[in-house]
Amino acid sequence: MEIITDSEFADFLSKRPLFSKTKAVSDFEKRDYNYSHPLDFNDKPFKFKCPNEKETQTFRTVVMVQHSLYSRTINDVINADELPKYFDEKSKSLNLTIHLSGSCQSCDASIDFLVNAYSDKSWDERDNGLNIFIQKIGQFPPYEISPDKTVEKYLVKEDYDHYKKALVNLSVSYGIGAYAYFRRIIENEIKRIIEDISTMDFDGAEKIKEALESFELDHQMANLIDVVNKYLPKSLTELGDNPIRLLYKQLSGGIHSFSDEECLQKAEMIDIILTYVIKKINEEKYQIANVKEAMKKLRNGC
Ligand SMILES: [Zn+2]
Repeated sequence: MEIITDSEFADFLSKRPLFSKTKAVSDFEKRDYNYSHPLDFNDKPFKFKCPNEKETQTFRTVVMVQHSLYSRTINDVINADELPKYFDEKSKSLNLTIHLSGSCQSCDASIDFLVNAYSDKSWDERDNGLNIFIQKIGQFPPYEISPDKTVEKYLVKEDYDHYKKALVNLSVSYGIGAYAYFRRIIENEIKRIIEDISTMDFDGAEKIKEALESFELDHQMANLIDVVNKYLPKSLTELGDNPIRLLYKQLSGGIHSFSDEECLQKAEMIDIILTYVIKKINEEKYQIANVKEAMKKLRNGC
């Protein structure tokens, strides 16, 4: 049996958009409740932007039910084969909707979530492994898109608009829409990203500049990516793979060959990688360049 950690549960509540679902328990066994009981959702910590203080605070969940209704006794778990308490008598499956209120530990402001916990099999089929999923089906105040400030500054106006639309699509778990917008952004921005990389201070910079000149003549993006792949600066290869090539690869293949769920996952990953690349470039190009310049001036007595 594998159960999500409190920090994974916290991410699910605070960072995932409406209708997101995640596996809470693999191979559920009845030795404890493990997200099949409302009280398992109680008193979980998570970080969230407080709607009252407008800054990130620690919240704790409270299950909004009469405590007595949901009391637990040892009898609930003592017989390992008996139908678990909150499984439906008829369908023998779990389908439990829980109203969670998150309470700000600093000012007591609250946010509300509706979470549905469900099993992917009936209790009778548990020998084949019964998993419990949780899905966020309600949130108030609603989930807000929060574009990254560095990304906002970096993208040209048109692509920043695409980026916001991609995040709106992500916020309602509309994968195909989000993926399409992210592809558009990569298509428009990849050359500028490579140009920016070529102005950074590293060994392969000249090679990338030459490849960019060839690209202006032959427009062979694949060739340009090959060169970038060979000479990418260390700061961008720390990940063990080349993020530029990974982003570029997203442009091949039709969107409709993927399910909405696959598109959603791809869009979420692109968001993370694109943000990382843009932040790295920003760091090297502006922040480190400024420090280098300052050091040089100081060395030369200003
Ligand atoms: Zn607060």
